[in-house]
Amino acid sequence: MSDPLARIAPALAALRADEAALEAFLRDFVRAPSVYDPDVGTTEEPAARLVHDLLTAWDWSPRWEEIAPGRPNVVATLRGARPDDRRRRLIVEGHTDVVTPGDPARWTHPPFGATAVDGKLYGRGTADMKGGVAAALFAARAIQRSGAEFAGTLILAIVADEEGLMLGIKEFVARGHADGATAALVCEPEGGRVCIAQKGALRLRVVAGGRMAHGAMPESGANPLAALAAFLVGCAALERALQAECGEHPYLGKPYLTPTVLDAGSPAQMNVIPDMAVAHLDVRTTPDTPHPMILDRLRALARAVERDHPERTITIKVIEDRPPTATDPAEPLVAATVAAHEAEWGATPPFGGVPGATDGTILWRERGIPIVTYGPGDTTIPHQVNEFVRLAEVHAAARVYVRAILGYLE
Ligand SMILES: [Zn+2]
Repeated sequence: MSDPLARIAPALAALRADEAALEAFLRDFVRAPSVYDPDVGTTEEPAARLVHDLLTAWDWSPRWEEIAPGRPNVVATLRGARPDDRRRRLIVEGHTDVVTPGDPARWTHPPFGATAVDGKLYGRGTADMKGGVAAALFAARAIQRSGAEFAGTLILAIVADEEGLMLGIKEFVARGHADGATAALVCEPEGGRVCIAQKGALRLRVVAGGRMAHGAMPESGANPLAALAAFLVGCAALERALQAECGEHPYLGKPYLTPTVLDAGSPAQMNVIPDMAVAHLDVRTTPDTPHPMILDRLRALARAVERDHPERTITIKVIEDRPPTATDPAEPLVAATVAAHEAEWGATPPFGGVPGATDGTILWRERGIPIVTYGPGDTTIPHQVNEFVRLAEVHAAARVYVRAILGYLE
C-alpha cells in the first residue's frame, strides 16, 4: 500500500480548507431543532434535511430512509479503490436527534441559537452530537476531495431516534446496511477517550398482582404493595451481591439495579387495597453481568417473594434489552483510532467506557460489529443546560477521523 503520509497530508489539507464551511454547517445544524416530540410535532427532519442537502451537494447520492413520517435516516456510501475488499467495511455513525432543552430561560444562550463565545459553541446538541456528526461528514469529504486512496467501503450513517428506542439504527440494520460491516466508529462525545466498552441496559416492568379489598378488612384481600416492597428490598440486596461478585469493570464501573418508577392504588381511594402494584427497574450492566444471569436471579427472587406472600404474584417483563459491549483492544479500528489521536495530540489516549448505551450497542447486538466510540465534547455535558462543544475540539476530531478512517481502510 502507498505511504500513509502521502494519503493523509492531502486529506488534512483539504479539511483545513473546509474549516469555515464545517463551522457554518455546524451552526445551521444546531439551529435546526431536532427534538423528537410527538406532542408538538417536532422531529429530526430539519436536521436530517441539512445533512441530506450537504451530501447531495457533494454528489454522494445519499439515501433518505424514514423510520416514521418525518423521521429520516440519511445514509451514504463511499467506495474506495478496491470496493470489493470485504475485509474492510467501516460504518461511521451519528444521530440527528437531540434531547429537550428544558426551560430555555435556564440557558445563558438560546438553546437553538448556536452562539459562539470564546471558542465554545453553545446549544442543545452541540456536543451530543452534532459536533461529532459535522466532524465525521467533513472528514469523509476531505478524504474524498483529496483523492486519498482507501480500500473497502465507508458507510456514513446519520440516523434518528438514538435518544429514544434507537429505531433509526435498528432500521439501518434491518435494511441490510450493516451487513458485512467489519467495524463502526460512533462519534459520540467522549472527551478524548477511546471508548471500547459500553454498559448494557435492561428496562424491566415488574408487576405484583394481588386481590382488591377494603382497607378496613385487609385479611379479605392480598395486598400487592407488600410483595412489591419485598421484591425491591431483594433487588437492593441482589445489587450488592452482583457488585461484590463482579467487582468494578475497569472502564464501566459497577452494575446497578435502580428502581425508577412506582405505581399502585390512588390517593383518592386510600381505603382500597389495589389488585396491582407496578415498579420499573433501570438495570445497568457490565460484560461481567450477562443479562440472562441477571434475569434468572430476578426471577428466583420473584419466586421467593411469592412463597413469602401467598396469593401474590410477581411477573417481570423485559421492555428493553441492550447488552453491554466490549471491543477487543486488538481490533484494527482501535489501533487506528489510538494512532490517529496520538498523531493529533501527541499523547496516547486513555481507553474508556460509555456509561449509557449508544447506537453502537445495536450494531454490536444485531451484527456483532466491533465498535469504537470517540468524538468531540465533554463526556458529562450531554443533556445539561448550557451544553457546548469547543470548536477546536471539533476540528481536532475531524482530523483524527481522517487519520483513523484512512488508517483503518488501508
Ligand atoms: Zn448521543
